[in-house]
Amino acid sequence: MGKVTGFMEYERQEEGYRPVPERLKNHKEFVLTLDDEKAKVQSARCMDCGTPFCNSGCPVNNIIPDFNELVYQGDWRNAISVLHSTNNFPEFTGRICPAPCEAACTLNVNDEAVGIKSIEHAIIDRAWAEGWVKPHVVRHKTGKAVAVVGSGPAGLAAAQQLARVGHAVTVFEKNDRVGGLLRYGIPDFKMEKSHIDRRVAQMQAEGVVFRTGVLVGEIPKDLKVTNWAKETVTPAWLQAEFDAVLLSGGAEQSRDLPVPGRELQGVYFAMEFLPQQNKVNAGDSLKDQLRADGKHVIVIGGGDTGSDCVGTSNRHGAASVTQFEVMPQPPVEENRPMTWPYWPIKLRTSSSHEEGCEREFAISTKEFIGEKGRLTGLKTVRVEWRNGKTVEVAGSEQTLPADMVLLAMGFVSPVASVLDAFGVARDNRGNARAGTEGSGSYLTNQPKVFAAGDMRRGQSLVVWAIREGRQAARAVDEFLMGFSDLPR
Ligand SMILES: Cc1cc2nc3c(=O)[nH]c(=O)nc-3n(C[C@H](O)[C@H](O)[C@H](O)COP(=O)(O)OP(=O)(O)OC[C@H]3O[C@@H](n4cnc5c(N)ncnc54)[C@H](O)[C@@H]3O)c2cc1C
Ligand code: SF4
Repeated sequence: MGKVTGFMEYERQEEGYRPVPERLKNHKEFVLTLDDEKAKVQSARCMDCGTPFCNSGCPVNNIIPDFNELVYQGDWRNAISVLHSTNNFPEFTGRICPAPCEAACTLNVNDEAVGIKSIEHAIIDRAWAEGWVKPHVVRHKTGKAVAVVGSGPAGLAAAQQLARVGHAVTVFEKNDRVGGLLRYGIPDFKMEKSHIDRRVAQMQAEGVVFRTGVLVGEIPKDLKVTNWAKETVTPAWLQAEFDAVLLSGGAEQSRDLPVPGRELQGVYFAMEFLPQQNKVNAGDSLKDQLRADGKHVIVIGGGDTGSDCVGTSNRHGAASVTQFEVMPQPPVEENRPMTWPYWPIKLRTSSSHEEGCEREFAISTKEFIGEKGRLTGLKTVRVEWRNGKTVEVAGSEQTLPADMVLLAMGFVSPVASVLDAFGVARDNRGNARAGTEGSGSYLTNQPKVFAAGDMRRGQSLVVWAIREGRQAARAVDEFLMGFSDLPR
């Protein structure tokens, strides 16, 4: 424990943001990382708890009290070693993780949690700046070949772990760039894509081969998922060429809103809108980019994807941005003794909301209306929740003007045809069926075919994808070698 009285002396300090008018001018990151001194003060607040709930609250089980202590001592080099021992990509989670570790921090019971995420962010940014993050090249090769399908955080974490124990790893990605939703989905203003490129270079030096623009199996043409594949390979070919296959293709099928008028021009999935801006930021020129300039935008869906649509629309210069959530407005403050150490349901106001957004709760959309095939508005109704079901409030119907509606209501499942092509059994939510514990963990019903990340657990978080990728890598290694030294 760095400073015994630190938690009594110092306040939690949040990372700062650049001012709204400045950050709205571009799509760049705007979070101001804590400097060394501020990170030291924040780490001094850690009580080095006998039972560190932060550690079990973190899906990758980051060894938080240890890196807090090291930052307090100014030993940044060992701090990054501790952080990397459980997390391949702290620069991703240090930027975009909602930080369940902080909800679980003991200080959060009756005070403010240690700023764990800001410390993580400071450690990894310093490590890259100092040149401490280097490829781990292994001389010993096992002679085994592994195919990873999908290059999101789950696939990347698994590929890195597997390469580091000597397997020949090839990552197949249908899109033109590596990264999954980190690349195409999560806006650049939350995470610039140079962070992915830097890791890809590291992994290439470690021996990982990336084959982008290659679709494994088939995706129906009318399904609206990102797909810039120029080549297709079959599951049968993959199974013949590789000793093991890991499916980490995400849960890409967006939830639709099949109400009258859905076909109108102006109604789009969030995942049609957001990836286009990622592409433009990367320097691609798109002929007909979906843009919100001067439009009245309504985002349907109150979660993170919706918030990303709000931030992107404001950067386009939308005339107004409104976000709908069908659930009632949650409390501003959670009842901490009731919710700690779990993730509380409370009103979360993101940096994108702060940039300008009307938020409507307990509202449902009944119809999209338009003229000459173009959206002009929508019909809504207020709803109440009774016994887990929505009931419309009589007389609360409204018609609101809208030029653009973005559907951000989550994802229903992975693309079924990809799993079907492998003959992989699905659970009742449509995800690849595979357990996570005991022998045969992450293994599907098909011999030598494993599954991890959103494709196995359904729509989730980057940190869970990294956890699953790491654990699946260990399972694959054990399957190939009969034992594994990789951590779980
Ligand atoms: C807009 C948006 C914002 C988000 N923001 C956050 C956030 O702030 N914090 C957070 O923690 N989480 C966030 N998430 C969730 C997070 O991005 C996902 O949980 C995570 O990326 C899942 O990782 P994954 O590796 O399992 O799959 P993905 O990231 O979905 O990657 C799967 C990859 O597999 C490829 N693929 C699929 N099928 C095939 C095939 N047949 N052949 C070849 N390639 C294939 C896909 O093209 C894709 O690149 C967000 C999600 C969205 C959509
Ligand atoms: S729970 Fe909070 S105070 Fe306790 S060890 Fe973890 S970060 Fe430190």
